[in-house]
Amino acid sequence: VTGAQASGIVEPPGQEYLDARAPVDRRVDDLLKRMTLEEKVGQMTQIRLGKLRGNCEWNPGPLRADCMKAVLEDAKVGSILSGGGDAPNPNTPRAWAEMTNAIQKYALDHSRLRIPLIYGADGVHGHSNVVSATMFPHQIGLGATWNPELLERLGASTGRAMRATGVFWNFAPVSDIARDTRWGRYYETYSEDPVLAGSLAAANVRGQQGDPTDGTAKLTATAKHFAGYSEPFNGHDRAPAQLPIRYLQDTVLPAFQPQFDAGVGTVMINSGAVNGVPAHASKYLLTTQLRERMGFRGVAITDWEDIRFLVDRYHVAADYEEAIAMAVNAGVDMAMEPSNAAEFTAGLLAGVRGGAIPGKRIDQAVRRILKLKFDLGLFEKPFVDPERADAIVNDADRPLARQAAAESTVLLRNDGVLPLSTGAGKLVVTGDAADSVARQLGGWTVGWQGVPTWSPLPPTVTVLQGIRAAAPSANVVSAPTRAEAVAQAGDADAVVVVLGEDPGAEGEADTEAPALTADQQGLVDAVRATGKPVVVVLLTGRPQVLGTVADAPALVAGWLPGSEGGGAIADVLFGAVNPSGKLPVSWPKTVGDQPFSYDQLRGANAGESSAYDPAFAFGHGLSYTTFTTSAPTVKSAEARRDDQVKVSVTVANTGQRDGTLVVPVYVHQPVSKVLTPDRRLVGFTRVALKAGEQRTVEVAFDVKRLAVTAGDMDGSGKPEVAKGDYDVVVGDGRARFTVR
Ligand code: BGC
Repeated sequence: VTGAQASGIVEPPGQEYLDARAPVDRRVDDLLKRMTLEEKVGQMTQIRLGKLRGNCEWNPGPLRADCMKAVLEDAKVGSILSGGGDAPNPNTPRAWAEMTNAIQKYALDHSRLRIPLIYGADGVHGHSNVVSATMFPHQIGLGATWNPELLERLGASTGRAMRATGVFWNFAPVSDIARDTRWGRYYETYSEDPVLAGSLAAANVRGQQGDPTDGTAKLTATAKHFAGYSEPFNGHDRAPAQLPIRYLQDTVLPAFQPQFDAGVGTVMINSGAVNGVPAHASKYLLTTQLRERMGFRGVAITDWEDIRFLVDRYHVAADYEEAIAMAVNAGVDMAMEPSNAAEFTAGLLAGVRGGAIPGKRIDQAVRRILKLKFDLGLFEKPFVDPERADAIVNDADRPLARQAAAESTVLLRNDGVLPLSTGAGKLVVTGDAADSVARQLGGWTVGWQGVPTWSPLPPTVTVLQGIRAAAPSANVVSAPTRAEAVAQAGDADAVVVVLGEDPGAEGEADTEAPALTADQQGLVDAVRATGKPVVVVLLTGRPQVLGTVADAPALVAGWLPGSEGGGAIADVLFGAVNPSGKLPVSWPKTVGDQPFSYDQLRGANAGESSAYDPAFAFGHGLSYTTFTTSAPTVKSAEARRDDQVKVSVTVANTGQRDGTLVVPVYVHQPVSKVLTPDRRLVGFTRVALKAGEQRTVEVAFDVKRLAVTAGDMDGSGKPEVAKGDYDVVVGDGRARFTVR
């Protein structure tokens, strides 16, 4: 007895949805017609792996048929996820592939219409749930590369690795902009600037979703967390955000637009509330902005348990059923881990049957979900090959990881100590992050907090090991304590102090004082007092207020550089790589400088001077060579609103070493009727220049980028480009153009 016969439902003939040659929209229509309401609401549900195994709750353990029955057969759930740390045992690529295949097989065998599952996980810096995978730098470091092409290659690598294990949905990248270093997820963002964050995120999405070189990396990426998540008013994860409409439209949302334009398949919703409305209940965010204005066409998924939180945390709904209707009517297509699959699907069914949720809203959501599954080829190829998984994932793309970490590294200060000589006789390496895999990899590594006690960590080259490998003839001494470092410094050529912070994730990584600790500063002070050259390397996911370390003779930001971070940092320290990283965020001088960003509105100090007084400015980063940049010229001194402005500058490497220069292009508006920042980033390019080489480069940007929300206090308008004069700013040079 087949499922269809058993349920008594008569199937329309033809089964066009199973025909791989039919157009996807036709397949979706055909399948939707055949589905019962129960089957539809099941598709709108995503449940965590823990519910399929162990005790059908959290405990790990083998998959269990009775747990799978409740979720996959009874509730007809269409998607499963691994939250941080939810992995098979053993945690190998092969075991992942076997596990996802087994779940897929169960789902298909128990789905009347054989609708495949889609499996999701957070591959936020490589396939970061898998012990043997290569960890790339966290996003904040990648922001410092200003290199979309690199981000595309990293995305393709992550996509390939995840897909090889049967994970077709990656909950990354984050395009929230980083403006508050107290916030625990700062390191998961690319930049404080929407243009930089948006272009890197879009490049990463292109890489993940389709590998231009071999076509195997097709999975879906996620733009998250839509929108306003990174600005909790008090710096605490998931605290409400207060975002004036003008700021929301002109600064926060634009960071997402390039991903929508690049066709990102899914969006994850901000867990927090914006302007008094939880994002999960905001029709304005999830429909008016996301769909109607920004043109996103894929699947909108909630964050973890967030529909329930409309009742328990926000109290905007009296009960769960009301919360479900609120979220789905606002624009939620799929609920991530709504605690209990049966309860959620029952609530959704009741909402439709009682008239609170229009049936066509359900069809719209399911249509998007099915389209995603068809687009990914899941109907044709629901399984992956476990035989290939280890070979594809284990230690994949290590040279790429090293390049990414090296390009992430920002040389903040250098009094001439760097580069170090590989011919040094003795080097002392000290500091809490010098030989710490956990500190180097950060959160979201195998375990959610990045410090799993039950599991080994991915194979990683620490900075100590990297220095040893780079200077094989030197006596490289590891000094774990301050006393040892000082004692060893006496006859050393230089001391490298590597300072970090505890790995963590989400609220657990929030901090009131994003600053180096007294112990860390004390260590640097003590080794500096020996009179030896001192290099301070910071492996932190956010700019730390530096205190006495601010004027260290050499200061290097290595961020959370991943598995190959130690080698990459050694490459920079010894000059094998000429540093090209530029700060993607502003480095504050004091802990009170929060939130902080370069694009503060004019008049922020009620006087002539700017309130922007960073330790190191947005875009700062030194090199071992010297560059000059000419004043910019614009191709046309007049532009219309839908034009592009083409800017040319001539750059030259005037030093002795080859190097790469990032050229940011800003726009300054001499007079604007609503306040604008003194300068706004509109585009950028990276230029590799041999010693002595000179080149003219062009950067083009859309005039649309200059839009700001016009109008007075009501702020209800849409962003518009004001007519009038604008200056392109590159370095100290300017070029005027006029928007007509
Ligand atoms: C995080 C998301 C993540 C999800 C699944 C949530 O707690 O906010 O960013 O994708 O968990 O692991």
